[in-house]
Amino acid sequence: MEKKQFQAESKRLLEMMINSIYTQKEIFLRELISNSSDAIDKIYYRALTDDQLSFDPADYYIKLSIDKEGRKLTLTDTGIGMTREELENNLGVIAKSGSLAFKKENEAKDGHDIIGQFGVGFYSAFMVADRVTVTSRALGEELAYRWESEGAEGYIIEPAEKAEVGTEIVLHIKNNTEDDSYDEFLEEYRLRSIVKKYSDFIRYPIKMDAVVRVPKEGAEGEFDEKIEEEQVNSMVPIWRKNKSELTDADYENFYAEKHYGFDKPLAHVHINADGAVVYRSILFIPETPPYDFYSREYEKGLELYANGVLIMNKCADLLPDYFSFVKGMVDSESLSLNISREMLQHDRQLKLIAKNIENKIKSQLKSLQKDDREKYEKFFEAFGRQLKYGVYSDYGMHKDALQDLLMFYSSTEKKLVTLDEYVSRMPEDQKYIYYATGATYARIEKLPQTEMVADKGYEILYFIDDIDEFAVKMLLSYKEKEFRSVSSGDLGIEPDEQEKQDEAEAAGDQELFDYMKERLAGKVASVRASKRLRSHPVCLSSEGEVSIEMEKILSMMPDNPNVKAQKVLEVNVHHDVFASLKSSFEGDKEKLDLYTDLLYNQALLIEGLPIEDPVEFTNMMCKVMV
Ligand code: ADP
Repeated sequence: MEKKQFQAESKRLLEMMINSIYTQKEIFLRELISNSSDAIDKIYYRALTDDQLSFDPADYYIKLSIDKEGRKLTLTDTGIGMTREELENNLGVIAKSGSLAFKKENEAKDGHDIIGQFGVGFYSAFMVADRVTVTSRALGEELAYRWESEGAEGYIIEPAEKAEVGTEIVLHIKNNTEDDSYDEFLEEYRLRSIVKKYSDFIRYPIKMDAVVRVPKEGAEGEFDEKIEEEQVNSMVPIWRKNKSELTDADYENFYAEKHYGFDKPLAHVHINADGAVVYRSILFIPETPPYDFYSREYEKGLELYANGVLIMNKCADLLPDYFSFVKGMVDSESLSLNISREMLQHDRQLKLIAKNIENKIKSQLKSLQKDDREKYEKFFEAFGRQLKYGVYSDYGMHKDALQDLLMFYSSTEKKLVTLDEYVSRMPEDQKYIYYATGATYARIEKLPQTEMVADKGYEILYFIDDIDEFAVKMLLSYKEKEFRSVSSGDLGIEPDEQEKQDEAEAAGDQELFDYMKERLAGKVASVRASKRLRSHPVCLSSEGEVSIEMEKILSMMPDNPNVKAQKVLEVNVHHDVFASLKSSFEGDKEKLDLYTDLLYNQALLIEGLPIEDPVEFTNMMCKVMV
């Protein structure tokens, strides 16, 4: 018999598959069982349109048998089987999924949702087997075919006999090596636990031969061993079970089985609502965002079942945008079965469920924030930005609902804090909630603008996300305390004696400031004595609605609205540099021009703004040196 080669890409993929895609060998069983379940579903689909065919669930099953001596594990199903061509196409070409093609042609109906779609699962068998023999008889065919392969070397296909329609897969389990043991995959208890772990909710019985001991007739205390077929899986969907019966691991498995994500969920909510609207739901808060989460491609939504029957894979109406990261499903008896996608949007029941779910998610997040801060921080790290967008979007319509979920880094606590925590710590005399913006915490820490507020001992929130300042502008205030940037003109801090004196003195320097402003015409709106600087000679601040940080963000937008902040150059009158400015104002205007330009550029650099002419800037530095 001629041995056929796998296609070139397939060969490489197969090696990858066996060595690296899956970290756990045991999942081969999940993959094969899912394929069998899909194969039975396909008969069900066929029966929907074929009058000759009837589908009685009682006739269909998946079975595992072990032959320890022969080192063989056999998986049999009564599914639709494969023709010669299908064996060739589906098993000869890796990463080709017959099930995905099938799924595209047949829309999911009545909960018989086909699982397979990647076209790689089958090959996981080679993680535990050094030879795989598939004997399959397709529905409507008399003849069966046998496909056999020892891995990357290729495969053979030959005619075979099989009494019943379906597929039988024999795994020739590998011998133990120094590093790995494969014997476990020939142990009944081990296989049983793998089935329970991954495939408990498969809708068809998964049977297994079990050795049972029965009392020996006529011989007291002695037993006979008998082989009996037992059903291993419980078949009942997890959401129909009682919460008390389920463990965290059960929910995590469900999450993985459903392909909600590759991560482990941070938290789950299991709802069994019996009020105005009756539904069951399991919701998950993932740990990490999917790669496309913050892109337009990302599609939010929950799986929607009507009475256990899947109607929609991603029902977007069930989730508000700001909770778009939530994964899970809803099963409701209140939805009528023949509901169409269009009608769903207007379904009153659905709206009620959505509102209900939103509240549940909110309270779940709040309790996580309260009881497990570490987890909540992880969550916020991953999805906090989405919540901030939520505050900002729709003209701030959802801000009341979301503001308590927000967290920002605190200058004094050195960690993320809630607004409530901030406000409850505010000293009597502190008027505003202060924040400072910048690229990183470390850079904000060094911003000269923060000096005065920090000196006062006030807490400052550090904003490093583009959206932060916009979200806060939408919030305006929290618990009647307004937000205020440390760079803003009015910090609401009463001047002390020293400052009052400064102010009086600064009046005498007005001419100098006017001169500098003239020199920087078009670049700054004014030059003035700073109230917030302590050790730095200069900094930039802004007047009006648009902050320097906002200008930076807006200038990066594709349709750059060209909004500019009204910049103010603030000068520290206690700095030695100021004395130089003063003396050159009196004696050497050329020097003053040079110093003014230099200081302005320094202020730009500190702000993280580009300087207009770096070459000119370095020339100026050299001029000062010689
Ligand atoms: P996937 O299940 O992701 O499609 P697999 O590599 O597991 O990928 O399987 C490839 C294809 O082989 C399936 O899509 C299906 O068409 C076919 N197949 C696999 N196992 C069976 C089976 N037990 N009965 C019928 N067809 C099967």
